Amino acid sequence: MASAHAQGKCCTFPKLDGRVTMLGDAAHGMLQYMAQGACMAIEDAVTLGEAMKHCQGDVVKAFQLYEKSRIPRTARVVLSAREMGRLYHAKGVERLVRNQLWEGRTPERFYDALEWLYGWRAENALTH
Ligand SMILES: Cc1cc2nc3c(=O)[nH]c(=O)nc-3n(C[C@H](O)[C@H](O)[C@H](O)COP(=O)(O)OP(=O)(O)OC[C@H]3O[C@@H](n4cnc5c(N)ncnc54)[C@H](O)[C@@H]3O)c2cc1C
Repeated sequence: MASAHAQGKCCTFPKLDGRVTMLGDAAHGMLQYMAQGACMAIEDAVTLGEAMKHCQGDVVKAFQLYEKSRIPRTARVVLSAREMGRLYHAKGVERLVRNQLWEGRTPERFYDALEWLYGWRAENALTH
C-alpha cells in the first residue's frame, strides 16, 4: 500500500465487499506534510457515527454513506500532502517558481487557502 501511494496509484479506501469499511491510516495513509493523519482519522470516526445514526443501524447503507462522504475529502488531503512534499523539496526551476508564488504572502492568505481543510464541521460531516 505504501509503495502504491508513493507511486501515486491509490489515494484512499481500498475496495472492500460492502460489509467492511476502514478508517484512519488503514484507509488513507498519507504523507506527513500537512499533519492531517490523525485529524482525518477523527473526522472518519465522527462521520461514521453520523452515518450509522442516519441509516438507523443499517450497516451496509451506513458504510456506503460514510465512504461517499469520506473518499473525496481524504483523497484531497492525500493528494495535497503529496503535492506539499513536492513543493517543500522543490529543486531548480520548480523551487524558483515556488519561491516567487509564495513571496510576500501573508499568513492570512495561507489560511484562506486552507479553508477547505480547516472549515470542516461535524454537523456537515455527511455532506463534505
Ligand atoms: C511522528 C509523527 C507525527 C505525526 N503528527 C501528526 C500531526 O501533527 N497531526 C496529525 O493529524 N497526524 C499526525 N501523525 C499521524 C497520526 O499519528 C496517524 O495518522 C494516526 O495515528 C492514525 O490513526 P489510526 O488510528 O488510523 O492508526 P494508528 O494510530 O496507527 O492505530 C492503529 C492501532 O492498531 C494497532 N494494531 C495494528 N495491528 C494490529 C493487530 N493485528 N491487532 C491489534 N491491533 C493492531 C496498533 O498497535 C495501533 O495501536 C503523525 C504521525 C507520526 C508518526
